[in-house]
Amino acid sequence: MLSEFDLISRYFTRPSHNLGSAVALGIGDDCALITPSPGMQLAISSDMLVEGRHFFAGADAGRLGHKCLAVNLSDLAAMGARPLAFTLALSLPSADPAWLAPFSSGLLALADQHHCALIGGDTTKGPLNICITVFGEALPGLTLRRDAALPGDDIWISGTLGDARLALAGYRNEIVLDDATLDKAGERMHRPTPRVELGTALSGIAHAAIDISDGLAGDLGHILSRSGTGASLMVDALPAGPMLSLQPDALRRRFTLSGGDDYELCFTAPADHRDAVLTAAQRANVPVTRVGSIDADAGLRLLDANGAPLALQPASFDHFATP
Ligand code: ADP
Ligand code: MG
Repeated sequence: MLSEFDLISRYFTRPSHNLGSAVALGIGDDCALITPSPGMQLAISSDMLVEGRHFFAGADAGRLGHKCLAVNLSDLAAMGARPLAFTLALSLPSADPAWLAPFSSGLLALADQHHCALIGGDTTKGPLNICITVFGEALPGLTLRRDAALPGDDIWISGTLGDARLALAGYRNEIVLDDATLDKAGERMHRPTPRVELGTALSGIAHAAIDISDGLAGDLGHILSRSGTGASLMVDALPAGPMLSLQPDALRRRFTLSGGDDYELCFTAPADHRDAVLTAAQRANVPVTRVGSIDADAGLRLLDANGAPLALQPASFDHFATP
């Protein structure tokens, strides 16, 4: 039987691993120690994944390892911050190597890709629950805050939207999908790509940003309410995921607008920064699409391809509003 300390040292501690210049002390003491670069601000965020709520019981451990860090890195991306390190608080029903090995591989592979070291955490027995806190750094004044959108800003979306929601609809049998479509759409749901390079490249260019976890309409709504603005959104300009774009228009509109779990960035930038936005996107190697604009008048106006208003009621995910 694995003890708590065996478990930590076998799966989560890598003695020879380069922790990166910001980490003065990693796993093993009472606290980890981080030294941010001179003049930088720390950006900190936590996200928890709960079995039965955020993922199905029996979900693939390797994908879970990837996803629980990806959603946290996505928050750093949405702030324009560069990842430094993270902690992992883990509640586990049992110390099962068949679960721990793929979980830690999936987790640490993504961590390595972003040079973001695991520096500590907590481990306890209990229902499966994974909580990560990430630490990043950003230049003061150049973070992409939700309250920073200004009337006249363009609204942009990275990558594509809706394939994760399409997969969920398939798993729930809301719609019938063939296996190949479900597999491809499911990749988006299980292995989201945090747009970290884009977020840092946009710092100083974009005004406001948010990562789309609960659906564009709701998440953009957070920018609008924090910034005291409204917006007009060209619904048919929203970039649908490759699997969703094969579906009927009504479904495409609904899932691009309110599908969650894509972890793309929605950001606003002044119209005279369009070239700079495109250059940043090219540097980050991710496509971006201009989908609307920020208005002084409150409210979210949904427009069709001809600029005519659309009568759609976008839903957004809320844990306490949804049974
Ligand atoms: P404490 O008694 O202070 O709670 P622990 O005995 O829980 O410390 O943990 C010992 C060390 O292992 C600490 O440095 C802690 O940060 C680290 N640690 C515990 N659980 C994890 C985990 N799941 N992943 C990474 N590090 C962990
Ligand atoms: Mg502890």
